[in-house]
Amino acid sequence: MKVIVVGSGGREHAIAWKLLESASVSHIFCLPGNGGTACCDRCQNVAIEATDLEGIRQFAQAQQVDLVVIGPEAPLAAGLADALHALNIPVFGPSRAGAQIEASKAWAKALMQEANIPTATAAVFTTYGDAVAYVQSQGAPIVIKADGLAAGKGVTVATTEAEAIAALERAFGGEFGAAGNQVVIESVLEGQEVSVLALTDGRTIVPLLPAQDHKRIGEGDTGANTGGMGVYAPVPWVTPELMQRIQAQILEPALAALQARGIHYCGVLYAGLMITPDLQPYVVEFNCRFGDPETQAVLPLLETPLLEILLACVEGRLDSLGALRWRKEVALSVVMAAGGYPGTYRKGDVIEGIPTALAQGVQVFHAGTRWQEGQWLTHGGRVLNVTALAEDFATAKAKAYAGVAAIHFADAYYRRDIGYRILEA
Ligand code: ATP
Repeated sequence: MKVIVVGSGGREHAIAWKLLESASVSHIFCLPGNGGTACCDRCQNVAIEATDLEGIRQFAQAQQVDLVVIGPEAPLAAGLADALHALNIPVFGPSRAGAQIEASKAWAKALMQEANIPTATAAVFTTYGDAVAYVQSQGAPIVIKADGLAAGKGVTVATTEAEAIAALERAFGGEFGAAGNQVVIESVLEGQEVSVLALTDGRTIVPLLPAQDHKRIGEGDTGANTGGMGVYAPVPWVTPELMQRIQAQILEPALAALQARGIHYCGVLYAGLMITPDLQPYVVEFNCRFGDPETQAVLPLLETPLLEILLACVEGRLDSLGALRWRKEVALSVVMAAGGYPGTYRKGDVIEGIPTALAQGVQVFHAGTRWQEGQWLTHGGRVLNVTALAEDFATAKAKAYAGVAAIHFADAYYRRDIGYRILEA
């Protein structure tokens, strides 16, 4: 079986690595892949960017692949799944219509409101003046969100009215391009954030283990927002009862609302949740793809072959797959970034020590790396994810950081407190 994995992050390396556990996968093309996928057996990087829809379409057709797994949101929002469906190629990832659940926060909010899904109360504005008047009527704290995809930079949790108005000026002033022509203004939710990635064939929806990301660059969740600096799974205080509520109040109603709009949604529905102190789940956002870095902690815990699950999704038979099986361990993953990230950072530094880390029993998922002349070089802001599995979080943390300590590149930065919310509780 030939598979294409679209994307070049740690998420895509983890997906490819997990798919390769199935002997029936003869070949994975990574478009464009990274330094990690360049060195996996049965894997091949192909220099076609994830946003090059026509290039991917032509390549998938020429190779007669059996499955395409789309990692990032941008090609989904641009309609890559639709283009592949038109060629009768099985694809794991929603259509452009389904991807609106991530690509338009106003669209997602309307869907949640219609389906009675618990979420922050919100209003949508297309003019600066109306938005400012609303902020003044509501007061602070308040959350301002550019409607469209803004790589995590379009959201401001404003503690003062002035900060909220400054965020509106940026959005309507064009800082996020067309993504900021419309804004969602919503109330602030209090609690802890948890990510639940759920897999669906459009009729049945099955959650993976809950995970907790660490989005800020600095220890103790301080400083700028990033793509995610580390993660652990499962979240021990997310009880089976809470997962039941998430399933019944959020995942199933969201899928039903998509169906009611005539959208056949096959792929990941990722619920970014705020869990209030009384354990009520509220949706902060939906994403239409696997989370990064959540995938790098959750997939190593999965015992059921990922290929079987993805095939059950694309073939519309997820209901007959049975319960997913999980290892009886926990996972903790630390992101090693290039110094300066999420601002400017250098590329092209040699990475050393990965074999030593691997020999210690951690998993190293590559993100911003490339393989050149027999060595790995840094090639992005988030460079590597070092994931450790263990019987408890303290051991997983010690193991992951021992792996991190074995790896070297100039100006490497990582948070030393991944997992602090559960380990210091
Ligand atoms: P990302 O791409 O980083 O996941 P995004 O740009 O799609 O983010 P959101 O996830 O909606 O935007 O918001 C980013 C972050 O802002 C959230 O992870 C959360 O920490 C915070 N946030 C968003 N909405 C709220 C809210 N209503 N109350 C409190 N915090 C919020």
